[in-house]
Amino acid sequence: MTEEGKLRENLCWAIGLPMGWQPLYESLIRKIFAVDPLARVVDAKEKFGEMRVYMAEYNEAVFALVDVANAKSRTICQMCGGRAVLSRTADGFFATVCSNHADGYLPATSSPLRHVRMVVPKSDLWNPDRDDW
Ligand SMILES: [Zn+2]
Repeated sequence: MTEEGKLRENLCWAIGLPMGWQPLYESLIRKIFAVDPLARVVDAKEKFGEMRVYMAEYNEAVFALVDVANAKSRTICQMCGGRAVLSRTADGFFATVCSNHADGYLPATSSPLRHVRMVVPKSDLWNPDRDDW
């Protein structure tokens, strides 16, 4: 597949996202394309009020771009793209919504997600016999 074809394929994942996040997603995909034209999205969705984008493979630049966009989605109304906060319904459904789209929601005091970043040596560089690790 050509690089342009890969870009179009990645952009298609926007259709599964709430409307308010589609511009954020499209911006993310164009930034990823600029640093890694062959990067491939394998899933993009809303999860617990946050945009989640999963790649087939990550390099450091792509990881950072995805991480920033996922975090930014927690401040953008998933319905309209306006300024928003993570909110939840009484029965535990989470969404990031602005005051205009907050019917039935209250601001959430915490996210159900824990954001953890792990740094692990790449297996092709790992050599337990070296003493400088
Ligand atoms: Zn809104």
